[in-house]
Amino acid sequence: MPESPYPILVMREKENFVPSPLRSLFPAVNPQSATAVPKYRGRLAPSPTGYLHLGHARTFWVAQERARSHGGELILRNDDLDSTRYKMEFVEAMLEDLRWFGFEWSEGPDVGGKFAPYNQSERMNFYRAALEKLRAGNFIYPCTCSRKDIQAATRAPHANDDDEPIYPGTCREKSGEWRVTSGEQSQSSPLGTRRPSLRFRVPDGEVISFMDGNLGEQKFVAGKDFGDFIVWRGDDVPAYQLACVADDAAMQITEVVRGADLLVSTARQILLYRALGLVVPEFFHCDLMLDDKGERLAKRHDALSLRTLRSRGVSPEKLRSSWSVVD
Ligand SMILES: [Zn+2]
Repeated sequence: MPESPYPILVMREKENFVPSPLRSLFPAVNPQSATAVPKYRGRLAPSPTGYLHLGHARTFWVAQERARSHGGELILRNDDLDSTRYKMEFVEAMLEDLRWFGFEWSEGPDVGGKFAPYNQSERMNFYRAALEKLRAGNFIYPCTCSRKDIQAATRAPHANDDDEPIYPGTCREKSGEWRVTSGEQSQSSPLGTRRPSLRFRVPDGEVISFMDGNLGEQKFVAGKDFGDFIVWRGDDVPAYQLACVADDAAMQITEVVRGADLLVSTARQILLYRALGLVVPEFFHCDLMLDDKGERLAKRHDALSLRTLRSRGVSPEKLRSSWSVVD
């Protein structure tokens, strides 16, 4: 039987468990170069769960323009961790649609580069190492709550429907000692039959603030605007927050350009950077594109997929003509 590529959880058995070395995976911060301005490195990080639409293209275009205006580099990362939702045909379509639209990247899954691999599904060692560091620092704990449990325990739904409900803290204190490993002992887990997810314990009441390059100063209160969040899912997949931070750090991204729907996630990720001892990049969140009913564009808006627009003979230049130029 092939060994699972994913770590599983067992209760901690020995005291001599040695955390895996992170130094080889993440660049060390050199104090002598700390004053030097690093070369701008931006990224496009689409996930192949459907065809890209105009909203993605606009955010990515801003990312590309910012990389260009800084004389920097733009990389493409394929966020294909969620294998239950992504399809190979979408990966190929994604690359094709991005090229057609006029995107150019100097590193990526199709062209390689010094920080390869650029498919998240091939970067499990980075995520495992980051997870282990969080465990060693006592930042995370196993959680066996189902989505239903959390909804039942949450008095009011979160104001933002797009975001997850605030975790009520059910499993925060009840976890005993445990560790992350890769092997086949998962069946012996005393945490029950449900394989636990792993949550990051947020510092309740602390204001997490950052200066957004587009939207100005942002402030979120841990435990109020967002709660303990999942860094590793019960089905053995790293959560977006962890994978994103591990990759952006390892790939030496200096500015993250993405949609404003991820502002709260940025607050979560800043906590992860801090816990992992990694340099926090700059952030630039773009306003979201709305459809004619005022709803956010989503992959279900087939009429606005790059694929459909292209098949109708619409040119990328025409599509871009109404977008304001970024500085
Ligand atoms: Zn729980």
